[in-house]
Amino acid sequence: MNYLNRQLRRTTPQWAPIPGAGQVRGSAGGHVWAVDDWMRLRRFLILGSEGGSFYSGEWNLTRENADAVGRCIEADGPRAVAEIVAVSRDGRAPKNDPAIFALAMAAGAKDERTRRAALDALPEVCRTGSHLFRFAVLVEGFRGWGRSLRRAVGGWYTGREVDDLAYQAVKYRNRDGVTHRDLLRLSHPARAVGAHNPTLECTDEHGRLFDWLVRGGDTDGLPRIVEGYARAQAADTALESARLIGDYGLPREAIRSEHLRAPEVWEALLEDMPMTAMIRNLATMTRVGVIAPGSAGAGKVIEQLADSERLRKARVHPIAVLAAMRTYGAGRGARGRHRWDPVTSVIDALDGAFYASFGNVQTTGSRTLLALDVSGSMTWGSVAGVPGLTPRDASAAMALVTAATEARTETVGFHTGRGGVRFGQRTWTGHEDGIAPLSISPRQRLDDAIETVSDLPFGGTDCALPMLYAIEREREVDTFVIYTDSETWAGEVHPAQALRSYRERSGINARLVVVGMVSNGFSIADPDDPGMLDVVGFDTGTPAVIAGFATGSF
Ligand code: CA
Repeated sequence: MNYLNRQLRRTTPQWAPIPGAGQVRGSAGGHVWAVDDWMRLRRFLILGSEGGSFYSGEWNLTRENADAVGRCIEADGPRAVAEIVAVSRDGRAPKNDPAIFALAMAAGAKDERTRRAALDALPEVCRTGSHLFRFAVLVEGFRGWGRSLRRAVGGWYTGREVDDLAYQAVKYRNRDGVTHRDLLRLSHPARAVGAHNPTLECTDEHGRLFDWLVRGGDTDGLPRIVEGYARAQAADTALESARLIGDYGLPREAIRSEHLRAPEVWEALLEDMPMTAMIRNLATMTRVGVIAPGSAGAGKVIEQLADSERLRKARVHPIAVLAAMRTYGAGRGARGRHRWDPVTSVIDALDGAFYASFGNVQTTGSRTLLALDVSGSMTWGSVAGVPGLTPRDASAAMALVTAATEARTETVGFHTGRGGVRFGQRTWTGHEDGIAPLSISPRQRLDDAIETVSDLPFGGTDCALPMLYAIEREREVDTFVIYTDSETWAGEVHPAQALRSYRERSGINARLVVVGMVSNGFSIADPDDPGMLDVVGFDTGTPAVIAGFATGSF
């Protein structure tokens, strides 16, 4: 492709900055743009920093992200809180922990208005007892247990319906050493019974439940599920546990662990199992025999996974489906202790659920080139802390979602150019073509498609290649979508310049969407070009945003 580079009018090698464009040096030595702190906040909330990246260890990446979150909070605290709430409440992120961390940070802000906004948002971000426990631990890193924090935690308890609270209490009993007893003792919501405090007003039923959580004792006058829990803790046989699950609607967490090996127990649990729990427990249910080829359990699971409305309501995140698919399909646990025979029709159902979990994405008819950065750095780390899910594998899954909705799509993988590229004074010698069509399609099963990408060779990184490829092959492209960590360094021309050259030569006002797959601070998208956009990989909203941008709706 070097002969083409020479024909481009305005070119700057990636190891140098484009003059006057305000670029910064990336971790790999190439010049790219720094994303603003708000984009960094979004990347952190959605991708997390667990496991680090190729260029940064986990601790460093987390600290960098925490600094960016801190700057957002300082610049406009209420806006930062609104961003945190939007990502968390709509289930756009695979894990809620980054949102809880950022909310805890905002709860300790210098600005009083920000602190209040953060504490007001507590029930929206911390929706389960488990979230609340996590928050309680993290918030201590940013502030003390003053009156407003205690009142906010008390409000979390009094603001819920008593039956819902009882369910939370039997399902999530502790995390990181924190219990409901600890938090109730700190926040004292029961003191407000009968008092004229609108934020802490609670019923006698709440008061009795708090009392039981702090002091224990008999379960008279408490929500039924508490009685069920107490009886399950004393159950002698698995059969009795199974019966109690049916009678009281108990979750798995309320059952004695020695009874969780019995198929009767899992059959009873499956009757009313929340979607996310079902997806997480497929292997166990297969191991105990509830899910088997043609079994009633398998039928129920498959039917539920095909129900896109249920998936949406349960806020099942595509990463959770993908993680389940990989683990379940492997037929053995991470530590090799447990084995099972995966049921093919269940894996197929997960495959369908993956696409459905992004919700309805409109077809735009845009001619699209999906370009996956398959370079070495993309094979490091794990997206959202899912073991073994590298940014490269995750990119393939993400690209398939757009490929499934857009018929006029070509998918390519790239690393670096043929015949070597100059990098400063040195020459990096590539061992083959740096860009090639990928034979992946949404009609393949997801795990097979990912396998195709996983097997590719590594290389340096040149993010300009997709545009150079389109010029060389005379492809008509409205939208380039590049999945990358934006650590480009090995090209003779910057991606933004290659895009402008493509526009000039083709006469198509092509757009570029950069799908950030790592929570770093870089992008190849020129912030001054309205035809280039940064989005975050595995934000459930991303495919819809790509579609909207392709049609020019913003
Ligand atoms: Ca790379």
